[in-house]
Amino acid sequence: MLRKQFAGLRIPPRGLARAPFRQYSTGKPKVGIFRRTWRFIKWSAGFTVAGVIGYTGVAIYAIHNPPVQLPVPEGKRRLVILGTGWGSVSLLKSLDTSNYHVTVISPRNYFLFTPLLTSCSTGNVEHRSIMEPIRQVMRFKQAECTYVEGSATKIDPDTRSVYVSTNDDSLGNVEINVPYDLLVVGVGSEVSTYGIPGVKEYGCFMKEIEHAQKARSKIMDAVETASIPGLDEETRKRLLHTVVVGGGPTGVEFAGELHDFFEEDLRRLTPWLANDFKVTLVEALPNVLPSFSKHLINFAEKTLKDEKIEVMTKTAVKNVTESEITAVQTLPNGEKKEIVMPYGTFVWCGGNMPRTLVRELIQAIPEQKDRGARRGLLIDEYLRVVGTKDVYAIGDCAQSTYAPTAQVAGQQGSYLGSLLNHNAKAFSAQEEVNRLEKIADKEPSAPGVQEDLRSAERQLRRVGAKKPFIYSHQGSLAYVGSEKAVADLNVWGGSEISQGGQFTYLFWRSAYLSMCFSFRNKVLVAFDWLKVKIFGRDVSRE
Ligand code: FAD
Ligand code: NAD
Repeated sequence: MLRKQFAGLRIPPRGLARAPFRQYSTGKPKVGIFRRTWRFIKWSAGFTVAGVIGYTGVAIYAIHNPPVQLPVPEGKRRLVILGTGWGSVSLLKSLDTSNYHVTVISPRNYFLFTPLLTSCSTGNVEHRSIMEPIRQVMRFKQAECTYVEGSATKIDPDTRSVYVSTNDDSLGNVEINVPYDLLVVGVGSEVSTYGIPGVKEYGCFMKEIEHAQKARSKIMDAVETASIPGLDEETRKRLLHTVVVGGGPTGVEFAGELHDFFEEDLRRLTPWLANDFKVTLVEALPNVLPSFSKHLINFAEKTLKDEKIEVMTKTAVKNVTESEITAVQTLPNGEKKEIVMPYGTFVWCGGNMPRTLVRELIQAIPEQKDRGARRGLLIDEYLRVVGTKDVYAIGDCAQSTYAPTAQVAGQQGSYLGSLLNHNAKAFSAQEEVNRLEKIADKEPSAPGVQEDLRSAERQLRRVGAKKPFIYSHQGSLAYVGSEKAVADLNVWGGSEISQGGQFTYLFWRSAYLSMCFSFRNKVLVAFDWLKVKIFGRDVSRE
């Protein structure tokens, strides 16, 4: 009957009607490997695009719709955080702000992604792309926090207060006193000039946004002045000579970025100056990048040489005037030779030292003085400042066995955030035990009191003790120019890989992009790189 009704349609023979689909479809042509691969690529690409669009949509929605923030409950302790750098912002990220009345104090109302600062000084990325407003960070925390734009001028551990100078544009300098129960010092370090005459007056530094902007403007000023018709050759050459002092990672990265700027843009836009651009890198030690492995030092020095950057090692700068730098070079036979370098732009990347606030705090704490704190505040394994009960220090302002890097500061910050969350829990549990102990002392036979006390004690034990801070070194990366980078990486549980070259450069870029603070920063930096690839760097002077 059925067969009659559907006569003309292809119906499988009776035996095959209930057979698995695959058996029945054996007559269809087989899908080839290329077609299957192509189908797989199409689907994967589709899913990736959909995923990226979805993620972007959610991220944009989240930026515009911050969650409702609750006020911090009464009775919580006052936590004051100094600084908005790598250490303090990592701390803020991992801290549950409903546990404390949090006040952040810093003269800078933004976080700065320092690894791309040298790129910013030549216009490879724009300065706002590597800044994240602290308000944006704080608005997304669990509970309200306060930000005060100002510099801490003095810490008094005896009265537990911080003196703050606001130096505001509208009201001028207002001095305020901020009391604390717990204090975190994350003020970083300041540029050290070692008292060398002329460095402060004539040098551009490379630590803050305004330094990168000053260097960018100074380079463009030198280029425009060198283009004045009729200028004598000696002055033109001097103006186009940039001297970078300090062969640490900052100096090397800046020299590499400058080389790219000259080669990729200025050579094209001002060809009449092309042969006069010159970069000299001066380093007091026998080689540049002393913290990297030997073969990467050799790779970096060879790359810099190929880029026609003159690297002067064993050469210490002694004096700087408006137009000349005097340095003393140690020759292979041990003799000293004085060198005078005429310059147009002088960038000082000679290292850092503790801030006055930190130096004064060291002097105010006898244990710090006695134990010889010099590079920063001595801290214990829980990052507590030695000689205090309620002051912690993180990042460059703390003296530890680790190098003063963003990596260390970031890990210390997030550890301290989780330690403070843990301590808040322990503190509440201890307070509850104390309260119940008092009741149990007064009325031991009150109904349920002994049971409640035992339960609170169990709760306190469960909170337990937190493990000390352990730093996990992920490796070091540095850009050396010409789309080449060097990397000393710690992978697979401690084995080291050291690499230099263009592949490392791609790794360097993707690593730094992924490390950018926020989704917004990542997008802006990626667009800046794309913009420079398409249109070149912007050479207009602001
Ligand atoms: P910072 O990040 O310097 O922050 C200090 C904060 O304290 C700032 O917000 C400042 O405004 C504030 N502050 C200052 N004085 C006061 C005061 N009196 N009261 C209150 N607040 C105050 N490290 C790496 O690991 N990888 C890299 O690739 C890398 N690249 C770098 C590139 C450059 C150009 C530079 C300069 C550094 C680089 N570093 C890098 C090092 C890294 O930036 C620092 O180690 C890191 O910033 C230290 O973090 P911090 O929180 O201690 O201090
Ligand atoms: P640094 O202290 O590492 O290097 C400063 C260099 O300047 C030293 O090598 C020193 O010998 C030299 N110097 C000092 N005085 C001199 C003089 N009078 N004449 C000639 N040379 C002189 O400083 P930095 O490069 O600014 O780095 C600071 C910190 O930030 C370091 O811990 C570094 O690891 C970190 N950092 C890391 C990266 C990275 O990982 N890519 C980039 C930048 C900075």
